[in-house]
Amino acid sequence: MPVKGLGEYDPQNVFAKILRGDIPSKRVYEDEWALAFQDINPQAPIHVLVIPKGAYISLADFTAKATDAEIAGFYRAVGKVAKELELEDPGYRVLTNMGVHAGQEVPHFHVHLFGGGYLGPMLQISGR
Ligand code: 5GP
Repeated sequence: MPVKGLGEYDPQNVFAKILRGDIPSKRVYEDEWALAFQDINPQAPIHVLVIPKGAYISLADFTAKATDAEIAGFYRAVGKVAKELELEDPGYRVLTNMGVHAGQEVPHFHVHLFGGGYLGPMLQISGR
C-alpha cells in the first residue's frame, strides 16, 4: 500500500524495526549515519536498501529536516556501500520512491541500490 511520505513518522514501520534489531535483516554495511541491508524481494541481482539512522519518512522529509552532517553522512554511505559491493565498475543505479505516485511503501526514507547486471531502461510507466 503506497504511503504519502509526509506527516508524522511512525516508529513501528518495518525499517524502524530493522534499525532497532527488532526484526532480522541481511546487513551489508553500517556506520554512524546509515544502515544497508538486502531487499527482501530483490528486483536485480544485487538489490540493497540504504536507510538513514534518523527518523525521516521520505526524501522530502529528510531533505527538509536532516542536518547537513546527516545528509552528507548518508549519501557518502550510499557511495561506500556501492564501492564495497564492487559495483562502481560496471555501474549501478540508485532510486528513491517518494509518495504515492512513486509507489513508496515503507515510510522510512530509503534508497534502493541496484546492480550486478544490466539494469534496462531507466523508467517504466504502466498504462503507457
Ligand atoms: P519502496 O516501495 O518503499 O520504495 O520500497 C520498499 C522496499 O522494501 C521494497 O523493495 C520491499 O521489497 C522492501 N521490504 C519491505 N519489507 C521488508 C522487510 O521486512 N525486509 C527487507 N529486507 N526489505 C523489505
